[in-house]
Amino acid sequence: MSVSQRIVVALGGNAILQRGQKGTAEEQMRNVHATCEQVTGMLRAGYEVVLTHGNGPQVGAVLIQNELGSRQVPPMPMDVCGAETQGFIGYMFCQSLRNIMAERGISGHPPVCVVTQVEVDPRDPAFFHPAKPVGPFFTEEEARRRMELSGESWIEDAGRGWRRVVPSPDPKGIVESDVIRGLVDRGAVVIASGGGGIPVVRRDDGLLQGVEAVIDKDLAGERLAQQVNAQAFVILTDVPNVCVHYGKPDEQKLGEITAGELRRLAAEGHFRSGSMGPKVEAALRFVENGGAFALIANLEQAVEALEGKAGTRIVKG
Ligand code: ADP
Ligand code: MG
Repeated sequence: MSVSQRIVVALGGNAILQRGQKGTAEEQMRNVHATCEQVTGMLRAGYEVVLTHGNGPQVGAVLIQNELGSRQVPPMPMDVCGAETQGFIGYMFCQSLRNIMAERGISGHPPVCVVTQVEVDPRDPAFFHPAKPVGPFFTEEEARRRMELSGESWIEDAGRGWRRVVPSPDPKGIVESDVIRGLVDRGAVVIASGGGGIPVVRRDDGLLQGVEAVIDKDLAGERLAQQVNAQAFVILTDVPNVCVHYGKPDEQKLGEITAGELRRLAAEGHFRSGSMGPKVEAALRFVENGGAFALIANLEQAVEALEGKAGTRIVKG
């Protein structure tokens, strides 16, 4: 084979936890193991793989642990919770990949997790409009008490109770991109920017500081893909394609599509903001910023999608 292609693969929630599961360590380890079989398939096909992943349910669980344990141990802020989940999820991936590689006699691709900070702009308008719900549900009374005590923002969430909301700023850059690139150059399978990375701002004195926010993992993955010079940005989720008229009788799957055409469809409102919207936006940014192509596909069809036999492929034009 010629020069191997470098790809950044963004894994969705289903790569770590399936619908209806409780979230035990065993369940997550089992799912991660199955995901790593897919990753091994990509390595076998000759790709240099950088992985990123979501952390919604995991950080939610850590926030519940924080709440319930707060009488005995100090609760940790969001940035620290993000770091915690990157660490444990990264561990699961590193162990699974090592075990699969050992069983199959694959060498030369040591897995490693880089706990990653992602820089955001302190003037990002998202900081003035916290909108991303995180953590457990509370009663209105408790939510109001917390708002007064801490200045946190809380909202009523679709009749299910009150929930804290945090800003979701746009990622500007991956702080550890140099070291990640170096590791990939040496053949490592790097797991980075988990959960969209730990959001940090650069203060006026030039130093970094964590903030209470959540970055979308697909948008952060796009930054990662640019900064490690990936040829392709691959978003793996739980549906086989991006669709127009999604869930309606005239639903249509998109195969290969130009960035220009997909932008037009996005403007028509085909892609929901909390789910497919940011994936489409991230894929578009990657291609518009000079990436060769982006894919949005089902986790189980990763290799087929790379071969052009499955998924939605976003190309220049
Ligand atoms: P992940 O955990 O992989 O990031 P999300 O749940 O955030 O996944 O987004 C994937 C979901 O997006 C799919 O399960 C699907 O229900 C939903 N979705 C919304 N709009 C569309 C669309 N236009 N085409 C395909 N899927 C869509
Ligand atoms: Mg999901």
